[in-house]
Amino acid sequence: MTVINEKFVVNTKGFTDIIDITKMVQNYVYRHSLQNASVIVYVAGSTCGITHIEYEPGLLVDLPEALEKFAPMQAEYHHDETWHDGNGYAHVRASIIGNSTIIPLIDGALQLGTWQQIVLIDFDNKPRNRTVCIQIIE
Ligand code: ZN
Repeated sequence: MTVINEKFVVNTKGFTDIIDITKMVQNYVYRHSLQNASVIVYVAGSTCGITHIEYEPGLLVDLPEALEKFAPMQAEYHHDETWHDGNGYAHVRASIIGNSTIIPLIDGALQLGTWQQIVLIDFDNKPRNRTVCIQIIE
Protein backbone atom coordinates (compact mmCIF):
# COMPACT_ATOMS: atom_id res chain seq x y z
CA MET A 1 0.00 0.00 0.00
CA THR A 2 1.27 3.43 -0.93
CA VAL A 3 0.09 6.61 0.77
CA ILE A 4 0.67 10.02 -0.83
CA ASN A 5 -0.08 13.25 1.03
CA GLU A 6 -0.65 16.63 -0.60
CA LYS A 7 -1.74 19.97 0.85
CA PHE A 8 -2.81 23.35 -0.44
CA VAL A 9 -4.08 26.54 1.17
CA VAL A 10 -7.34 28.29 0.27
CA ASN A 11 -8.05 31.89 1.27
CA THR A 12 -11.73 32.36 2.12
CA LYS A 13 -14.05 35.25 2.87
CA GLY A 14 -15.93 33.31 5.58
CA PHE A 15 -19.72 33.69 6.00
CA THR A 16 -20.57 30.47 4.12
CA ASP A 17 -18.10 31.14 1.32
CA ILE A 18 -18.36 28.22 -1.14
CA ILE A 19 -15.16 27.62 -3.09
CA ASP A 20 -14.78 25.17 -5.98
CA ILE A 21 -11.59 23.17 -5.31
CA THR A 22 -12.19 20.48 -7.98
CA LYS A 23 -9.40 21.61 -10.33
CA MET A 24 -6.89 21.85 -7.47
CA VAL A 25 -7.73 18.33 -6.30
CA GLN A 26 -7.57 16.95 -9.85
CA ASN A 27 -4.17 18.58 -10.44
CA TYR A 28 -2.70 17.10 -7.25
CA VAL A 29 -4.09 13.64 -7.94
CA TYR A 30 -3.35 13.40 -11.67
CA ARG A 31 0.29 14.49 -11.32
CA HIS A 32 1.01 11.03 -9.82
CA SER A 33 -0.33 9.13 -12.87
CA LEU A 34 -2.04 6.50 -10.71
CA GLN A 35 -4.71 4.11 -11.99
CA ASN A 36 -6.69 2.96 -8.94
CA ALA A 37 -6.76 4.56 -5.50
CA SER A 38 -8.94 6.10 -2.82
CA VAL A 39 -8.66 9.87 -2.61
CA ILE A 40 -9.56 11.54 0.66
CA VAL A 41 -10.10 15.31 0.64
CA TYR A 42 -10.12 16.79 4.14
CA VAL A 43 -10.03 20.21 5.76
CA ALA A 44 -9.04 20.83 9.38
CA GLY A 45 -11.18 23.22 11.41
CA SER A 46 -14.49 23.26 13.28
CA THR A 47 -16.11 26.07 11.27
CA CYS A 48 -15.56 24.80 7.73
CA GLY A 49 -16.50 21.78 5.66
CA ILE A 50 -15.97 19.78 2.48
CA THR A 51 -18.83 18.53 0.33
CA HIS A 52 -20.02 18.26 -3.27
CA ILE A 53 -22.35 20.49 -5.23
CA GLU A 54 -23.26 21.41 -8.77
CA TYR A 55 -21.36 24.68 -8.81
CA GLU A 56 -23.94 26.90 -10.49
CA PRO A 57 -25.42 30.25 -9.37
CA GLY A 58 -28.78 28.85 -8.21
CA LEU A 59 -27.38 26.25 -5.84
CA LEU A 60 -24.79 28.71 -4.54
CA VAL A 61 -27.82 30.58 -3.14
CA ASP A 62 -29.97 27.54 -2.33
CA LEU A 63 -27.45 25.78 -0.08
CA PRO A 64 -26.73 28.82 2.13
CA GLU A 65 -30.48 29.48 2.36
CA ALA A 66 -31.11 25.89 3.47
CA LEU A 67 -28.31 26.10 6.06
CA GLU A 68 -29.72 29.39 7.31
CA LYS A 69 -32.92 27.46 8.20
CA PHE A 70 -30.96 24.78 10.12
CA ALA A 71 -28.59 27.14 11.88
CA PRO A 72 -29.54 30.84 11.50
CA MET A 73 -26.69 33.32 11.89
CA GLN A 74 -28.71 35.55 14.21
CA ALA A 75 -29.98 32.82 16.55
CA GLU A 76 -28.59 32.45 20.05
CA TYR A 77 -26.05 29.69 20.61
CA HIS A 78 -24.68 28.27 23.84
CA HIS A 79 -21.26 28.24 22.16
CA ASP A 80 -21.35 32.03 21.92
CA GLU A 81 -22.18 32.27 25.61
CA THR A 82 -19.04 30.22 26.29
CA TRP A 83 -16.57 31.86 23.89
CA HIS A 84 -18.22 35.13 22.80
CA ASP A 85 -16.84 34.66 19.29
CA GLY A 86 -20.25 34.92 17.60
CA ASN A 87 -19.77 31.91 15.36
CA GLY A 88 -21.99 29.28 16.99
CA TYR A 89 -23.95 29.04 13.72
CA ALA A 90 -20.69 28.29 11.88
CA HIS A 91 -19.81 25.36 14.16
CA VAL A 92 -23.29 23.85 13.79
CA ARG A 93 -23.24 24.21 9.98
CA ALA A 94 -19.76 22.67 9.81
CA SER A 95 -20.92 19.66 11.84
CA ILE A 96 -23.87 19.14 9.52
CA ILE A 97 -21.74 19.31 6.36
CA GLY A 98 -18.70 17.33 7.59
CA ASN A 99 -15.00 17.82 6.97
CA SER A 100 -14.11 15.31 4.28
CA THR A 101 -15.09 13.34 1.22
CA ILE A 102 -13.70 10.23 -0.44
CA ILE A 103 -13.51 9.98 -4.22
CA PRO A 104 -12.53 6.72 -5.95
CA LEU A 105 -9.85 6.93 -8.63
CA ILE A 106 -10.66 4.20 -11.17
CA ASP A 107 -8.64 3.53 -14.33
CA GLY A 108 -6.89 6.87 -13.87
CA ALA A 109 -10.05 8.97 -13.51
CA LEU A 110 -11.57 10.54 -10.41
CA GLN A 111 -15.17 9.32 -10.28
CA LEU A 112 -16.95 12.66 -10.27
CA GLY A 113 -20.20 13.33 -12.06
CA THR A 114 -20.25 15.89 -14.86
CA TRP A 115 -22.11 18.37 -12.66
CA GLN A 116 -20.50 17.37 -9.37
CA GLN A 117 -17.84 19.69 -8.03
CA ILE A 118 -15.84 19.40 -4.80
CA VAL A 119 -16.28 22.46 -2.60
CA LEU A 120 -14.74 23.89 0.52
CA ILE A 121 -17.26 25.91 2.54
CA ASP A 122 -16.05 28.35 5.16
CA PHE A 123 -18.76 29.25 7.66
CA ASP A 124 -16.69 31.34 10.06
CA ASN A 125 -17.54 34.99 10.67
CA LYS A 126 -14.25 36.31 9.28
CA PRO A 127 -11.82 35.58 6.41
CA ARG A 128 -9.64 32.51 7.01
CA ASN A 129 -6.78 30.56 5.43
CA ARG A 130 -7.76 26.89 5.23
CA THR A 131 -5.40 24.01 4.55
CA VAL A 132 -6.91 21.26 2.44
CA CYS A 133 -5.28 17.82 2.83
CA ILE A 134 -5.44 15.25 0.06
CA GLN A 135 -4.49 11.72 1.02
CA ILE A 136 -4.19 9.25 -1.83
CA ILE A 137 -4.20 5.59 -0.80
CA GLU A 138 -3.12 3.23 -3.55
ZN1 ZN B 1 -16.37 29.47 17.95
